Amino acid sequence: MKTIDDFNFEDKKALIRVDFNVPLDGDFNVTDTSRIEAAKPTILKILEDGGSTVLMSHLGRPKGKVNPDMSLGHIQEKVSEIIGVEVKFVDDCIGDKVSEAIEALETGEVLMLENLRFYAEEESGDKPFAEKLSKNGDVYVNDAFGTAHRAHASTTIVAEFFPERKCFGYLLAREIKAIEKVMQTGEKPVTAILGGAKVSSKITIIENILDKVDNLIIGGGMTYTFVKAQGGQIGDSICEDDKTDLALDILRQAEEKGVAVHLPIDVVAADAFDNAANTKVVDVDKIADGWLGLDVGPATLENFKNVILGSKTILWNGPVGVFEMERFAKGTVSVGNFVDQATQNGAFSLVGGGDSVAAVKQFGFEDKVSYVSTGGGAMLESLEGRTLPGIAAILD
Ligand code: AMP
Repeated sequence: MKTIDDFNFEDKKALIRVDFNVPLDGDFNVTDTSRIEAAKPTILKILEDGGSTVLMSHLGRPKGKVNPDMSLGHIQEKVSEIIGVEVKFVDDCIGDKVSEAIEALETGEVLMLENLRFYAEEESGDKPFAEKLSKNGDVYVNDAFGTAHRAHASTTIVAEFFPERKCFGYLLAREIKAIEKVMQTGEKPVTAILGGAKVSSKITIIENILDKVDNLIIGGGMTYTFVKAQGGQIGDSICEDDKTDLALDILRQAEEKGVAVHLPIDVVAADAFDNAANTKVVDVDKIADGWLGLDVGPATLENFKNVILGSKTILWNGPVGVFEMERFAKGTVSVGNFVDQATQNGAFSLVGGGDSVAAVKQFGFEDKVSYVSTGGGAMLESLEGRTLPGIAAILD
């Protein structure tokens, strides 16, 4: 796997695909700078080598049309401030204006191009457009994990024009290594904690990880499809009735593969989907009509704790309860604490995919786990066992 450490960028212009798709407020201020900060080490290494960098990204969903509200010009100052180098900006990403700016670029300088998605050709993965982009640098660096699952011009197709001169930036390399550590080289016992609302959105992940894990902890809304499938009473809890056969099939496959499945034993049931509802702890398979399970109960947490603390490698995707409501957040917070403890004891823990990161950030576990993935969809697709086109294009 080639990374920027395999290249000396002296007198080279590095064309870097970054993910600067950052949230902006009504006055175009950046409200969360983490993606810019995440790209900083890659940019600095190239500059320190004696090279210069050309940054390209998308911002928002302009759908192939120029939209001043989504101009990367809005973040020029913020990027300069974070990188610590005055960033130049050109209001296009291909064409004469861009060629001139790149020609004029000197060692140690940073140039940022305009939003790639102002061209429909970006998302359609258009080859001639990618060829034009390829004129913008000597070496292609992909450091945008968040878009690595898309075969877009700047994330995948452009790499074809740099057969010997393409590599991963630090951020993308770290994401790839973290996934490998869980899915391929993880020290046993390996445990996956899967939560979230539905079985249907996690089914491909479950099927893929059954070959890799020793323990599968299931929590959240998908619990009830499994419990109902086994004949339990789930009251009004969320359930996908058309997925009960699938749930039984997963349990069968797990047994065949020697994976221990840990489903909730008890739950916090509520008489309404409401933070102010009446609640009681009941067995997971004895939830009365009119009640719904919204969080895991104390006996379940005791079991989850033993499994998590006994693990050497942990993957966590999805909350185990309706964490957005304070009274049903305890299970998710507790799981976070167990993962934190296991990590302190030497386990490798990876959190990522979909909404998981929001829960981890909300409860301050970001710095307590080994790795928090930055790419929601890209992470989910990796966990499903798919090769991401943006990664394959560099390995090619
Ligand atoms: P996902 O995006 O699939 O990871 O799902 C996250 C969502 O699952 C969160 O918004 C949670 O509120 C929701 N969730 C977790 N547990 C439950 C539950 N017991 N009933 C309904 N929704 C749940």
